[in-house]
Amino acid sequence: MADMNTAARSDHQTRFTVAIIGGGFTGAAVAYHLAQCPAVDQAAILVFEPRDALGKGLAYDTGDPAHRINVPSARMSLLPDDPEHFGRWLAGTGVLAGDPRAHQADGNSFPRRSVFGDYVSSQVEPLVDDGRIRHVRARVAHVSKTGTGWQLQDDAGNRFSSDLLVIATTHPAPRAPARLAEAFVGHPRYIADATKPDALEPIRPQDRVLIVGNGLTAADVIASLRERGHVGRILSISRRGLRSRGHAAVPQEPYGNFVSPPPQSTRELLKRTRLALRAATADGLSWHAVLDQLRAQARPIWQGLTVVERRRLVRHLRVFWDVHRFRIAPQVEQALDHAITEGRLEIAAGSILSARRHGDGMQVLIRRRGGAPETLDFDAVVITTGPAHGGILSSQSWFSELAETGRLTMDPTGLGLACNEMGEALDVNGDPQLDLLIAGPLARGVFGELMGLPQVSEYAAAIAGQIIGSIAHTYKPIA
Ligand SMILES: Cc1cc2nc3c(=O)[nH]c(=O)nc-3n(C[C@H](O)[C@H](O)[C@H](O)COP(=O)(O)OP(=O)(O)OC[C@H]3O[C@@H](n4cnc5c(N)ncnc54)[C@H](O)[C@@H]3O)c2cc1C
Repeated sequence: MADMNTAARSDHQTRFTVAIIGGGFTGAAVAYHLAQCPAVDQAAILVFEPRDALGKGLAYDTGDPAHRINVPSARMSLLPDDPEHFGRWLAGTGVLAGDPRAHQADGNSFPRRSVFGDYVSSQVEPLVDDGRIRHVRARVAHVSKTGTGWQLQDDAGNRFSSDLLVIATTHPAPRAPARLAEAFVGHPRYIADATKPDALEPIRPQDRVLIVGNGLTAADVIASLRERGHVGRILSISRRGLRSRGHAAVPQEPYGNFVSPPPQSTRELLKRTRLALRAATADGLSWHAVLDQLRAQARPIWQGLTVVERRRLVRHLRVFWDVHRFRIAPQVEQALDHAITEGRLEIAAGSILSARRHGDGMQVLIRRRGGAPETLDFDAVVITTGPAHGGILSSQSWFSELAETGRLTMDPTGLGLACNEMGEALDVNGDPQLDLLIAGPLARGVFGELMGLPQVSEYAAAIAGQIIGSIAHTYKPIA
């Protein structure tokens, strides 16, 4: 075990140190905004991220050509005040010249996700090269509170200290249904986490595939399998069988008003949404316009609800919200449509009753909604139930350590970590900790809607502003 990283030690003796755990989009964006601020010149910014480059993270560190951004490029920007920034970068680099499918007839473009990752990296890496940001290519394994700040230990045993800690790790691995995990773990074509690089490699062209979950990752898997020449049958199953929706055929302005006054209950929100949908249809608009307004007004809507109502909303409406709010890229939507038309893909509502290996294959007892149990044979099973945010506190040892010492708690809605609107983590007594910030979607319990890039980008800039304020208050001058 190394005693301590020397650079970090010398930094810490003289400089205010910010440690950011996770260098996906969020961690990189927070570091970027900090490093751009002249007042932070004399602070040390450490970003812990095992990936080679900062700014990609789980979503954009993918070489799979079928993976597309699911929000038009015009709304994806590292700089929330400059929404055209990514678009200008795309035009300047000419990177889309080799990808004509990125462009849509309505003028929107949906580049590959790796392109967005490259864009963010291209903005952040120069700050790493000139030393304003330090990228520690390691996983944080332990975190503890010291008298004046935090001590971190990476998975190689190196230790670092910091004055302020930012958690930007966002997406934990999915948790497979226990019945499937118990029966199939170790099988070469049991894909427990479809977001891992080359996860689909073992699947052969003719394989009969069961996909468990019907969200964006399932759509990605179907599009990727198609791109790889897969021609076997696919059953994609989830409890409700709801399929992720695509974007509106023509752009529309957000429609409706849900904030004057904000609804007092989930029931009222639902009623007003239904009325707005009816009115929008009468005005010749699609549901997209209403959902866009709900998304735009999500924060005051969410914050106007009591915790009991927020929980009710998560329990009853989240699944419907997710499939309409997270829209798949047109290229991915086409892949799904083709597979359905060709009779290769079935999206179904149902549950898994039991599972067992059967020779080289996998046998699953399934009950479709309203139907009798049926035994189906598959050659591959892919889990796409999405990141297990509800289990975040037990997802890594340092999370458990911080939870055990009362420094981290779950948000009462179960969507992420408890914090206030400034991102300050709430301890077990509900008190905010000024030196422990939750950046990125793990803070969404406070805001309701904080997962899509536009909101995540805005929030990262706000967190950087919060840190700049802390540095101004507690700055340690160079000795
Ligand atoms: C597959 C996928 C696709 C998406 N596509 C889009 C899209 O097209 N458009 C859109 O608007 N939104 C999209 N999203 C939503 C997404 O949440 C945000 O856009 C954004 O990427 C979140 O980034 P993040 O940095 O907060 O999280 P993440 O991407 O999860 O990054 C967290 C990082 O933390 C690192 N980490 C974890 N543990 C440790 C540790 N112990 N030590 C050090 N580092 C650690 C991980 O390696 C990872 O790189 C997508 C989400 C997913 C999961």
